Amino acid sequence: MAKYGKTPGLAVVLVGERKDSQTYVRSKKKGCEECGIASFGADLSADATEAEVLKVVADFNANPAVHGILVQLPLPDHVNEARVLDAISLEKDVDGFHPTNIGMLAMRGREPQYVPCTPKGCIELLERYDVPIAGKRAVVVGRSNIVGLPAALLLQNRDATVTMVHSRTPDAESIIREADIVIAALGRAEHVRGDWLKPGCVVIDVGINAVDDASRKMGYRLVGDVNYAEAADVASAITPVPGGVGPMTIAMLLRNCVDGARRAFEAEAK
Ligand code: NAP
Repeated sequence: MAKYGKTPGLAVVLVGERKDSQTYVRSKKKGCEECGIASFGADLSADATEAEVLKVVADFNANPAVHGILVQLPLPDHVNEARVLDAISLEKDVDGFHPTNIGMLAMRGREPQYVPCTPKGCIELLERYDVPIAGKRAVVVGRSNIVGLPAALLLQNRDATVTMVHSRTPDAESIIREADIVIAALGRAEHVRGDWLKPGCVVIDVGINAVDDASRKMGYRLVGDVNYAEAADVASAITPVPGGVGPMTIAMLLRNCVDGARRAFEAEAK
């Protein structure tokens, strides 16, 4: 950052060879290059031990050129995700998955250092498109720690009346039908149908699902968790997949990293 004569740095830790994770990591590193963030990487093999992953995180925690650390999820089964996420220094937790950051997000009157990137991107989309949130009924489909739960907290912080539905919710359709805002993050291709939606509602589709498609060179195409063609006829606005929440997630990650670096540079200047 010109004001401080220093460069923000983001470290991305990838464990294993999952193709989808490799694609996400490439996009994140490309985003860093495009906006002048130095990117650091650690690519560990799928059989890396938990101790090796924790060592990489500890080294990045101690590296003053690194302002944000992101561990690409999911981790292999033998590596405990909670222990790895807990090991990331709070000041460098640009994904906002540390329990202290999520706890702060959940508490009234408290400010987390970082807000998880995908839910933050969903809210940014709503706000940039002047979608009213306060006083509206919002339904979040899915309750994962990384998307559904923080998305519901962010909507509630903005005075929406929020319901979370999940795999054990009977008759989720009738709950979704009451929503002015639907955030779909369940990981089931085109699961939410057009006739589940209230006419005029706003739909944020977080899902990224690969479905077979012989007409495509890759043999598949990406679809969301919402049936786009049906929903577009009913909703007043809907995000596409790909090209909606995905790029916003990267943008929010880069912003979190720059914000973290600014805080570090300001602290160093004192
Ligand atoms: P996840 O950890 O698998 O969580 C899925 C959630 O959906 C769970 O809470 C589950 O309920 C709920 N669910 C499953 N089936 C359901 C059903 N039939 N009705 C209602 N709820 C149901 O997934 P995630 O990590 O949150 O990701 C969700 C989707 O978003 C995936 O497609 C993922 O690829 C995508 N994603 C996109 C981005 C992006 O940048 N665009 C980022 C992250 C994730 P239970 O809790 O009861 O199991």
